[in-house]
Amino acid sequence: MTDAHSTEAAPRGMPLHTKILVGLILGVVLGLIAHSMGACEKGAPGDANSNELLDWLDTVIYWAEPVGKVFLRLMFMVVVPMVFSALALAVVEIGDLKKLGRMGLKTLGFTAILSTAAVLIGVGLVNGLRPGHAVSEAQRQKLLAQYSQGADEKVGKAKQAKPVRDTLVDLLPENPLQEMVGAVDGSSKGNGMLAVMVFALVCGIAITTKPDETKTFVGWLEGLYAISMAVIGFAMKLAPLGAGCLVFALSAQLGIDILKTLFWFVLTALLGLGLQLFVVYSLVVMVFARMSPWKFFNGVSEAMLVGFGTSSSSATLPTAIKVAKEGLKLPQRISNFVLTVGATGNQNGTALYEGVVVLFLAQVMGVELTAGQQFTVVLMAILAGVGTAGVPGGSLPLIVVVMQSVGVPGAAIGIILGVDRILDMCRTVVNVTGDLAIAACVAQTEPADDSGQTILFETESPA
Ligand code: ASP
Repeated sequence: MTDAHSTEAAPRGMPLHTKILVGLILGVVLGLIAHSMGACEKGAPGDANSNELLDWLDTVIYWAEPVGKVFLRLMFMVVVPMVFSALALAVVEIGDLKKLGRMGLKTLGFTAILSTAAVLIGVGLVNGLRPGHAVSEAQRQKLLAQYSQGADEKVGKAKQAKPVRDTLVDLLPENPLQEMVGAVDGSSKGNGMLAVMVFALVCGIAITTKPDETKTFVGWLEGLYAISMAVIGFAMKLAPLGAGCLVFALSAQLGIDILKTLFWFVLTALLGLGLQLFVVYSLVVMVFARMSPWKFFNGVSEAMLVGFGTSSSSATLPTAIKVAKEGLKLPQRISNFVLTVGATGNQNGTALYEGVVVLFLAQVMGVELTAGQQFTVVLMAILAGVGTAGVPGGSLPLIVVVMQSVGVPGAAIGIILGVDRILDMCRTVVNVTGDLAIAACVAQTEPADDSGQTILFETESPA
């Protein structure tokens, strides 16, 4: 097995994660400089506010965006085939339904513990720091007016949210192909990626009942998995430039002014995410995975950086699968199972953020929440973390649902929309790292014979 960190991925000696980090830092710094020079402001080329330098900067931003999108799409394009093949193969490899059930329960158990810890941290910090009281009436009005259109869109989406009963039934897809079509962008009628996973699990279980007749199909699944990994190899070659371009275009458009207005909110959210990431995960990997936090974070850094650059757990899933194998050396059947399920089902950063946003907006809007209502927020934020699509801004419609359930007007979401994208990058890092922490813990707690050499999944990842 070649080490992607030292050979193919870094032909000139610099590890891939360092290259991505450099790309991200350069992207942010150059984007902020471009913003401070007035790029992306209304002065369209040729009008009075525009000059040659601004035109040139706008052209650079105009072309940086598609480079970032190419990187993103290379990863998104293999998410569905990879989820399907990785999960079905993991079930075939695990073979025994009892073992599968045990691993599923462990994954669920860790998800519940980590999400609860996350939401409690978030809710505790908002109650302690009271960031909502730092927003003046004038700032509130200004933000609401500026982002009212975006808020209307989120409230509209929240109205389409289905009752729990239908959500549960929709876990079993009526038409799996239709779910696959809408899985990545959240446009499916049912549960999208979750339904695709259930389909993969059902297929995997069916294969185990007909091992002889399905040999060819298993070979086909292995091929599909190998193709997905190869495409991720291409994407990772582009990662330093692609992720850098994504954050460059974003910071050139947003700047940091908005961060100043919502300073206390941003600080509260970042503090919570930081605690979850570095304290909770460190403890969990030390206690349950018997791994030093340093080794863990070092092993997963590439996935953390890709999560930051893409703001999407789904797009980062293939990289997470890659680092679980190469960085953490986890048995693939276990990590592939936990990571694919976790990419949609375990979003601790999102759960924490949802709790912070709802309580913050309640403070800003002057809605006093009782202890019972705060408890409702905690429960709903934990569940919403499970149901959030792993795409940029995937949690916003669910945040509106939670807000409305405790009497905070949905339109108030507009207040935080200006900073959401930046915080999305940070919470996605926590989401992705949480999945990897759970994979490490489940792998450690599985009996030794489960971590032997596998026949399936022996594909070399090219990145
Ligand atoms: N962007 C997040 C993710 O993909 C979801 C969200 O919190 O909006 O994990």
